[in-house]
Amino acid sequence: MNYAEINADCPKYESLESFLMLRAIHYAVEFHKVNEIRFSFAEPSVEVAEMWRESLNRKKREVKLIYQAAMPNVVKFAAPDCRFMINGVRHVQLGIPEIPDLTDFHLHTSLAYCSENMDVKKAVGLAHISGVKHVNFAEHSGQLYCSADTYWNNRFRWQNRQTDEDLTANYHELIKAEALTDCMFGTELDVDADNVVSVIPGLNGFRLGAIHFLENNLSFEDKKRDFMCRLDALLDSGIDILAHPFRVFLKGGMPIPEDLFEPVAEKIVRAGVAAEINFHSNHPQPEFVKLVLKKGGRISFGTDSHHLYEAGYLTPHYEFCKMLDIAGKLDSLLLHANIVDME
Ligand SMILES: [Zn+2]
Ligand SMILES: [Zn+2]
Repeated sequence: MNYAEINADCPKYESLESFLMLRAIHYAVEFHKVNEIRFSFAEPSVEVAEMWRESLNRKKREVKLIYQAAMPNVVKFAAPDCRFMINGVRHVQLGIPEIPDLTDFHLHTSLAYCSENMDVKKAVGLAHISGVKHVNFAEHSGQLYCSADTYWNNRFRWQNRQTDEDLTANYHELIKAEALTDCMFGTELDVDADNVVSVIPGLNGFRLGAIHFLENNLSFEDKKRDFMCRLDALLDSGIDILAHPFRVFLKGGMPIPEDLFEPVAEKIVRAGVAAEINFHSNHPQPEFVKLVLKKGGRISFGTDSHHLYEAGYLTPHYEFCKMLDIAGKLDSLLLHANIVDME
C-alpha cells in the first residue's frame, strides 16, 4: 500500500483550494500509485466531499480518504508548490517551476456537453495560481452546432447541421460576457465523417484540431486511413495545434499505430502545427513527441479541462518533458500564446 499525507486547512467549496486538493488526490493516485490519503483536517463540508467523490468515481480512482491524521513532519500544502508527503519518506509537489509565458491552450467552458463544473473565472483563477500565464478556452465546434445525442453518436455532419441545437450564439455571448476576464477564446475544431471541418463563422482565436471519432465498422488499417484523411482536412483548415494526437485510438481500445508517427509528425511540422501534450484520459507517446521535435516542430500544453481541478494542472506535462530531457528547453520548444501567428 502507498499513502500520501496532506497537511492543510479544511477546504471550503467556494475556495479554489478545494480544487487544488482534489488535483493532489488525482495526481497522487494516478502518478504515485497511492491508495490511501491522510488529511490533517476534519472531513470537509458535504459539498466539497461530494464534489471530490464524484470526480474520483468518474475517473475510477480507488482511494481511501482518512481525516484528522497527525502529521508533524509534513510541510503545509500551499500554492504554488502544493507539497505533500508520500509513504512518510519523501515530499512531492504538485506545483511546477516557473516557465515564462506558460500557456494552457485547452480548457472547456460550461457549454461543453462533457463539462463537469467548468466556470471561466474560477478556471482562470486556478490556472493563474498554478503558474499559467495565458489561458485559452477552446470549445468543441462539433458540440456547438449539434445536439449531444447527434455528437456522441458520431452522426454530426457540418453540411447538414441542425440549427435548432445551435449553441454558437451562446458561445459568442459567453465570450462577450467574459470580455474583462484575463483569458482567450478559440475552438477545438471537429472533423466529420465527410472530412469536413466544422469551422464556426465569427469565432476567432486559437484553433485546435481534434479527431474524436473514426468511422465504425472499419478494419484497423482502414481506421488508420480514416485518421489520416481527417488529419489532412484539419491541417488544410489552418489549425495551430493538433489536440491529443492519437487519443482516438487509445479511447477506442485500439493499439496506438506507431507506423503513423512518422507521417503525422512530418505533416504537422510542415504545416507549422504544434503537437499537444494532453493527459486528459490520455497519455502522450514519447517517441512521437521526439520525432516532432527532431523535425523542428513545437509542442503545446493543454489540460483539456472539463473539471475545475484540471485548470492549470500541468504537472504531468512538465514531468513528461523532464522524462524526455527537454524541461530546460521549454522556452523554445513550447508554443506560447504570445508567439503564435494569429493570421
Ligand atoms: Zn478533444
Ligand atoms: Zn477538449
